Amino acid sequence: MSLQDRTAIVTGASSGIGRGVADRLAEAGANVVVADVRREPKQIEHYEREDDRPTDEMLPDEHGVEARYVETDVSDEDAVAALVEATVETFGGLDVLVNNAGIQVLESTAEMTREQWQRVIDVNLTGTFLLSKHAIPHLTASDQGRIVNVSSVNAYIGGAGAPYSASKAGIVNLTRDLALELAEDEVTVNTVLPGVIQTPMQNQNDEATRERQAEKTPLPRVGEPRDVANAVRFFASEDAEWITGAELLVDGGYSIGGY
Ligand code: NAD
Repeated sequence: MSLQDRTAIVTGASSGIGRGVADRLAEAGANVVVADVRREPKQIEHYEREDDRPTDEMLPDEHGVEARYVETDVSDEDAVAALVEATVETFGGLDVLVNNAGIQVLESTAEMTREQWQRVIDVNLTGTFLLSKHAIPHLTASDQGRIVNVSSVNAYIGGAGAPYSASKAGIVNLTRDLALELAEDEVTVNTVLPGVIQTPMQNQNDEATRERQAEKTPLPRVGEPRDVANAVRFFASEDAEWITGAELLVDGGYSIGGY
């Protein structure tokens, strides 16, 4: 699944799943732009610690590709426009956009402020829209234009805080509309829906919650960023050229909901 000489933007690629995605795309030969609000990888408190190198340093060391960090808040349209412009200036085009950056606020709806609600929607859903909007002219110019959106099992089953689940469900339908709009230009748009993945996002969960999540995952381990990254790399590759508007659960069976 070569992505040799392709250029990818991965949002939220300093830590967690985004970092794993950046690593897999670089392994396949892609140059990667890391778009994140922070450069240093966040550490996972409850599992094995990550490598401390920023992703844009790690990728050239490990895979011999080029990588750049561009400080970007995906909810800020001016920053997003500047990110896409800088990418195209540096690498001469854009082939793959991975909308991965996401946040979660664990608060009951009755206690949640409007600002908390709005921030989750702005980052998770509006960020996906803004990146896509600014990337589209360049993706349509590519002969292998790809958008891969990172949603969540919570898009289907809820239970992760109302704005989070709503934003993740929104991403599924945003993907379908984009897939329709971009089909004639042969740009594909797909969603991956991770289950429980060991990343810094899990730091906010207590031990009982983590145990419950592991118990609800039928496969005998919870997920790792590479599990999601493998699915993203597939959608980004030539092998997935006739797949668009699709959703792929990467959840170790979590959403089956048996037992
Ligand atoms: P994480 O918190 O470990 O990493 C998220 C990264 O996004 C961080 O580097 C952070 O700095 C960056 N980020 C946050 N806000 C940003 C913004 N406004 N602009 C740019 N970057 C920003 O999270 P993760 O677990 O790796 O999650 C990645 C994606 O996967 C998210 O969309 C999340 O909802 C989704 N997801 C995660 C899990 C899981 O179990 N970890 C499950 C389902 C879906």
